[in-house]
Amino acid sequence: MRMLITNDDGVYSPGITALAQVAATFGEVRIVAPDVERSSAGQSITASRPLTYKRTLGTDIETYRVNGTPSDCVALGAHNWEKVDVVLSGINLGSNLGNAMWHSGTLAAAKQAALFGLRGIAFSTPSTDTEPDFSVLKPWVSVVLKLLLDLPDACLLNVNLPAGMPRGILWTRQSVRLYDGKVVAAKDPMGRSHFWFTVIPLEKSEEGTDRHAIEQGYVSITPLRLDITDYEQLAKAKSEFAFDKITFDLKP
Ligand code: MN
Repeated sequence: MRMLITNDDGVYSPGITALAQVAATFGEVRIVAPDVERSSAGQSITASRPLTYKRTLGTDIETYRVNGTPSDCVALGAHNWEKVDVVLSGINLGSNLGNAMWHSGTLAAAKQAALFGLRGIAFSTPSTDTEPDFSVLKPWVSVVLKLLLDLPDACLLNVNLPAGMPRGILWTRQSVRLYDGKVVAAKDPMGRSHFWFTVIPLEKSEEGTDRHAIEQGYVSITPLRLDITDYEQLAKAKSEFAFDKITFDLKP
C-alpha cells in the first residue's frame, strides 16, 4: 500500500504529521505538500509558472514541499512516485462540511486524486482556540483508515472528526443549505477599504448530514463522486425540451 500524504495547511502543519504517522502503520508513506498555507485554494492548479519539488528535512517521513496548490502536490507527488494507491489529505485544522466542500483545498486534493484514477480521502477537524489533541484523534483516524481501505470501491471520501473525543462514527450525506458566506467591509490602518470573506456557522443542520454528525460529536464519513450532474433535472429537461423535435429558426 503506497500512500501519498498532502494537505492545504502547508507542509509544516501538525495535522499532516499526525495523518502521516497514522498512515505509516498501514504501508509506505510520502508527504508532498504546499510550502505555505493554501487553505480555500479549491482545486486550482498552477498553469502560468513552473513548480518546484524540494526535499524537506526534519521528519522521519520522506517529505517534499511544492510552491503550488494541493492539487499541484497530488499531480507532482504521483508523477515523482509511481504506483501510488491512495492520496490522503489533511488533517485539516478546520472542518470541511457542507458548502465548504466547494472551496476546500483539503478535499480538492482528494478530488484531484480521484481525477487521476487514484483513491482520495480527506480528513478535517474543527479549528478552535487550541490546537487539536492529535493523541485523541489519531486512533480514530486509524480506525477510519482501516475501514475505508477495506472499501476499495469508495474512491472519494470526506472525513470530518469532531473537536474532542468522538462518540462514534456515522455515514453521512453532504449538508446543502443556503450559502453561509459573508462579505465584511473594513478599513486598513491607512483608512483604505478592504474586504474579508467569512463563513458564518449555521445554527441548525439536518439529521443524516455531515454537519449534524459533527455537532453531535461523531466522526462523519461522506462518500462523494466527481459527477455533479443533476440527473433529475437532466431527465426533466430532456422530456420537456427534446431538442431533436424542436426546430430553431435562427436566420438573422
Ligand atoms: Mn486548511
